[in-house]
Amino acid sequence: MADIRANDLDAFWMPFTPNRRFKAQPRMLARAEGMHYATPEGRQVLDATSGLWCVNAGHNRPRIVEAIRRQAGEMDYAPSFNMGHPAAFAFASRIAQITPPGLDRIFFTGSGSESVDTALKIALAYHRARGKGTKTRLIGRERGYHGVGFGGISVGGIPKNRMYFGSLLTGVDHLPHTHGVAGNLFSQGLPKNGAELADALEGIVALHDASNIAAVIVEPVAGSTGVLVPPEGYLQRLRAICDRHDILLIFDEVITGFGRVGAAFAAERFGVTPDMICMAKGLTNAAVPAGAVAASEGVYQAMMDGADAPIELFHGYTYSAHPLACAAGMAALEVYQEEGLFARALEMEPYWRAAVHSLKDARHVVDIRDFGLIAGIELEPRPDAPTARALAAFETAFDQGLLIRVTGDIIALSPPLIIEKSQVDQVVETIRAVLSGVD
Ligand code: PMP
Repeated sequence: MADIRANDLDAFWMPFTPNRRFKAQPRMLARAEGMHYATPEGRQVLDATSGLWCVNAGHNRPRIVEAIRRQAGEMDYAPSFNMGHPAAFAFASRIAQITPPGLDRIFFTGSGSESVDTALKIALAYHRARGKGTKTRLIGRERGYHGVGFGGISVGGIPKNRMYFGSLLTGVDHLPHTHGVAGNLFSQGLPKNGAELADALEGIVALHDASNIAAVIVEPVAGSTGVLVPPEGYLQRLRAICDRHDILLIFDEVITGFGRVGAAFAAERFGVTPDMICMAKGLTNAAVPAGAVAASEGVYQAMMDGADAPIELFHGYTYSAHPLACAAGMAALEVYQEEGLFARALEMEPYWRAAVHSLKDARHVVDIRDFGLIAGIELEPRPDAPTARALAAFETAFDQGLLIRVTGDIIALSPPLIIEKSQVDQVVETIRAVLSGVD
């Protein structure tokens, strides 16, 4: 297995990867269990990123593996268009038990990107169903990541993810991001300054008029662009402005869902209830690809009974409510609940916070941010080669048995919620040592 012939690497066009660089020096993962991956050579790698922010209960949980096995033997696939299977209904009901009150209508997708596009489409159809078909503009945020569908990259705010792909969706505006506000460096938990950045939404409303605006979508804590934690009161302020103007508020909780911030959803932790929540990743502990949108009763009912309601949403995926995903997801939710993992993440937060902030004096570090079991460690970019420092840190850490994630010059951490304190220490001490050796 360790022997990978060079031409075996050619066919796979790897996503979000400089292919040539990787293929010259491949890093492979062959097995996984609990907090660790193992390389094909059998070297253990501590997973400080939960794969891609998704394996919240740790890897290869026997209960989830067994549920998938059982379901595959019973029924491999069933369509969800005009028919159903019991696991889909059971899984939706189970998800609705942990979503914020009122967000009880669950639309299944196959990924986070599909969840985002689904929520944006529901927002447009919702307003139209109520006879408010002019409300079509969508508002995202700079440095937002909402997956890679055309809807997601249009409301997203990452230049490289947008610039190669033509004109994108029309009628999209962006709020300013919340990073870099004076006085917020090295904030522990929520930064104190910057709630008023939400008021930019009033500016957009003034420009376009509320009668033309459908929805605002934000990540409660932006993950992929380097862990941007919202200023205290910011999300509350966005909610109030949306309410004032009959604009739907969508939380993209693809990362923040399922215990990552010490509650089932960030909406609960922040005490702000959006009209829709996008989810994926932890939904099935990532064992089977799946996503979902939780929509409010008001949104659902408008689609059923609105003055201009269509007879259906005219939207769905072959893999919506895939039986293997439903089985994996049910088992994942059982594991989360029985092991109290969401509460465990909240209990671990102070230890995690103190540990990651102890890196303040580590070489190259210019800012540290944290919330729940997430952290962002920002490095000073090397003047001649931005991002090189973080990339070197990533490669060296992997060689030293630690999987971290880097984005730009920021190290992003999001370990499985089962992490032990000694492993938190290992993560931090490895990063400290790695940074001391990076030029
Ligand atoms: N939204 C957010 C906030 C994400 O972090 C991601 C994935 N990192 C997505 C959407 C897209 O999810 P997927 O890769 O499953 O399409």
